[in-house]
Amino acid sequence: MRRPLRIVLLGPPGSGKGTQAHIISELYGVPVITTGDMLREAVANGTEYGKIVDSYMSRGELVPDKIVNGVVGERLNRSDLENGFILDGFPRSTPQAEFLDGFLEEHDLKLEYVIHVTLDDEAIVKRLSNRRSCPNCGEVYHLVSKPPKKEGVCDKCGSELILRDDDRPDVIRNRLVVYREKTQPLLDRYMEKGLIKEAPGDHPMERLPELLKRVLG
Ligand code: ADP
Ligand code: ZN
Repeated sequence: MRRPLRIVLLGPPGSGKGTQAHIISELYGVPVITTGDMLREAVANGTEYGKIVDSYMSRGELVPDKIVNGVVGERLNRSDLENGFILDGFPRSTPQAEFLDGFLEEHDLKLEYVIHVTLDDEAIVKRLSNRRSCPNCGEVYHLVSKPPKKEGVCDKCGSELILRDDDRPDVIRNRLVVYREKTQPLLDRYMEKGLIKEAPGDHPMERLPELLKRVLG
């Protein structure tokens, strides 16, 4: 048995963190915790709290740290993480990184790796504006590189595909600004701890398992 893997994926929106997270999950049998999906679920429930979350997400702003730390803290305390976890989209700010450090310390755990997924802004805007998402099952498509079999319809569950509010070009630009300002500084923090591994966000998909196995040793 290999030791537990505790991994953070850090990178700009649309860099392909989610794709890499799921490949690592399959390779090593470790669950993925995707804050974007958890927050979108809260929005879909239509509660007052969901409306507050939506007001940040649809503008491409970060949902307040207090809310996100609460959601993630609850998830991290569940019992299915003894083999480790892959955090996709968390932490995204210094207070969130401090929260994670506190949690790990309290439970006498350590991060093994922080994978920095890189992609330049032009490629990001192109990728996200061509992205279509299934609001029902969460499957993600790309109009050019991964179109659904039937136009506008999810292959997996038959629901109608949408362009997420925050995948509109002006909102994408704002997400990039927010990334530079709030999330990018975390690279230094993890660099100092010697945890950073680089993974290009435009690596050919079929060769990602091989790349990630190499990166993770
Ligand atoms: P991407 O990685 O492509 O930006 P996500 O689905 O991870 O897409 O995130 C979408 C939105 O969800 C973010 O723009 C932000 O509003 C919210 N969000 C996700 N994770 C966090 C987080 N850790 N802290 C604050 N907001 C978050
Ligand atoms: Zn679907």
